[in-house]
Amino acid sequence: MPKQTQAQQNQAPQRGSRNGVVAILSVVIVVLVAANMLMWQQLRQASAGGGPLSILAQPATTPSDAGLRDFKVVNAHEHLFSRKYLDKYLRAAESTGVVRTLFVASSDFTLKGKGYEATKGNEANTLEILHVARQHPGKIIPFCTLHPGDPDPVGKLRRYVEEGAMGLKLYTGHGNFYDRPLDCEEMLPVYAYCQETNLPICWHVNFLRYAGEFERVMRQFPNMTVIVPHWGVTFWRPRGPEYQRFLKMLDTYPNLYTDTSFGTREILVGGLEIVSRERDLFRAFFEKYADRTLWGTDMVVTGNREKTEEWVEAVLRACRDVLEKDTYHFFMGAKGSRHADKKANNIYGVYRGLALSDDILRKVYETNIDKLFPPEKI
Ligand SMILES: [Zn+2]
Repeated sequence: MPKQTQAQQNQAPQRGSRNGVVAILSVVIVVLVAANMLMWQQLRQASAGGGPLSILAQPATTPSDAGLRDFKVVNAHEHLFSRKYLDKYLRAAESTGVVRTLFVASSDFTLKGKGYEATKGNEANTLEILHVARQHPGKIIPFCTLHPGDPDPVGKLRRYVEEGAMGLKLYTGHGNFYDRPLDCEEMLPVYAYCQETNLPICWHVNFLRYAGEFERVMRQFPNMTVIVPHWGVTFWRPRGPEYQRFLKMLDTYPNLYTDTSFGTREILVGGLEIVSRERDLFRAFFEKYADRTLWGTDMVVTGNREKTEEWVEAVLRACRDVLEKDTYHFFMGAKGSRHADKKANNIYGVYRGLALSDDILRKVYETNIDKLFPPEKI
């Protein structure tokens, strides 16, 4: 602020300017009161509708400002476009208590979007993930990927493992990638190799579509360690028969795991909405299957302008908040956000979380994944 001159300091305040200040203050107060009343009216309308929006009766500003609980969290599901974007991810990870990350290699389709092919880029991104893992010992669990159409997939897999791959990512049970049955001839030697060498597979299998084929593979290779992310995509319908079918698979195969990731943007927002609405079902899941669940984000770290370090941090935080908090806030779910769920009409992006116990969280964040990938070997 510029210093006042002696003359200005000595000047007695004039009546006219005092009146002006009073008038401006009055207008500001009236505007604030009106805005507040409008907000409370919206909150009342939202809570009158019942469902997850009833939580809006609580102040929207407090939840996610509260701290995260004290764990050494491992992110079991993330994609990385290139080494260029690793630093922003690692900074965001550090500020949200994430100490290690399992990066799954991806094809051009996952990293660059529609119009790019699932058969291309698998090798390049695998080598990229193996490279960043070597550069950051102790911080990255690298998973390679294959396309079932690759010539000599087992030879390739063996080479990746020699170069440091600690697991295999498969996309073959994803509707956008599916081009042959999961139990096709050419993949059987891959499953056999994984079972024999105890190499874990992170395998996207959509149980709404391909449960039967997946069950046939597991019957043939019952000792494979498989992480099927997103509850086998059944999180969309936790009251549906596919969800029960997925749980039955967990009951049958002790080496079958899932992870808590939903997907990127709209899918993440959709998942958080469902958990918010179906808290009791999800809490019951964690009570029973905490030993078989890993924590993951699946946000796909790229150079997309939207995906700043703050964005990455907000996603990591939301993915923890949903498990740890009773209520929390996530900007991407708020009405007006490009990725908000229009049907949910979640005015402030306030959700109900599961507020899981420390015992459950420790298993999901630390114990389960550390058993699969002992930190001293990373
Ligand atoms: Zn993913």
